[in-house]
Amino acid sequence: MKKTAVWLAVISIIIFVIAWGIIGLKILDGNYVFMIEAYAALVSLVIFIVCALYMKITDRCPHCGKMKQSFGKYCPYCGKEFEKTN
Ligand SMILES: [Zn+2]
Repeated sequence: MKKTAVWLAVISIIIFVIAWGIIGLKILDGNYVFMIEAYAALVSLVIFIVCALYMKITDRCPHCGKMKQSFGKYCPYCGKEFEKTN
């Protein structure tokens, strides 16, 4: 499930970049009709935020179950080292 969220986040950010790339190309081309791309960018951004939040919520210390507050190696609550899960 967590891997799915990571993949969704990666895919959504790729779609986001591609959509903005298309919008950029259209603007350069003098074409200002890019509602579909703008919606695609918006939707992919929402998906990315949801996935990022999901990852943040599920990213917990394996020892005390508290949410990880940093990207450090040790839990700020119990001081134990995070297990290398990925
Ligand atoms: Zn902990």
